[in-house]
Amino acid sequence: MNAQKLSKRLEMVASFVPTGAIVADIGSDHAYLPCYLVHKGIASRAVAGEVVQGPYDSAVRQVRTEGLSDKITVRLADGLAAVEEADSVTAVTIAGMGGPLIVSILEKHPEALKTVTRLILQPNIHAKAIREWAVQHGWALQDEVILEEDGKVYEVLVLQRGSMDLTEAQTLLGPKLMNTKSDVFVEKWSREVANWQRVQQAIASAEPTAENKAKSEELAHLIELVQEAISWNR
Ligand code: SAM
Repeated sequence: MNAQKLSKRLEMVASFVPTGAIVADIGSDHAYLPCYLVHKGIASRAVAGEVVQGPYDSAVRQVRTEGLSDKITVRLADGLAAVEEADSVTAVTIAGMGGPLIVSILEKHPEALKTVTRLILQPNIHAKAIREWAVQHGWALQDEVILEEDGKVYEVLVLQRGSMDLTEAQTLLGPKLMNTKSDVFVEKWSREVANWQRVQQAIASAEPTAENKAKSEELAHLIELVQEAISWNR
């Protein structure tokens, strides 16, 4: 992967950035995504935010090597603190982290989202946390994609300002992903159900404490929810 040829995962994130956007890529360890977006003429300008010194240094180097220092500003900052009002950022990308970490970044500096009309978020796990945050903070799902790369499954969530209501199953699985029900989606959730069933069996042979009983009931509920969603109409 480099700034000309992204991974399939980051290419998917890039495909949802509107042409002409001013992008902030948060957690931009090598700045490949902002460099790609500016090279392709998709983003007019970008901010690359990184909280750790080493990855920040490599982002700075990358932007310099690509000759993009006039279009991409790299800032060492925690999450959206990398975004300044004068940047007038219109789209934020946050990729390659867990859903709860992405949510904590979105919650910590809400003022940085004032000019933002699109969020493109790629959680490695627990996308549910992002859907819950979106419902509570006036963002609606514009699109959702699930993909597999090198044996790992990733989701990309595209949010625009607006309201949405989600059922429990839609919050967990993704309303659009549930409708499309791709092979990757069905495989991911079938694996999850099998894991939960293994935990249930382990609990069944453990001490019958109130805590174990509650955990087993919770798993039974989740298994039913997911099985119904993945078996329907297939
Ligand atoms: N976004 C790139 C991608 O998807 O390939 C890099 C993903 S890498 C696994 C996660 C990066 O996010 C790391 O470089 C980490 O230092 C950075 N990061 C984690 N928490 C952060 C935060 N609060 N603010 C900015 N960067 C953060």
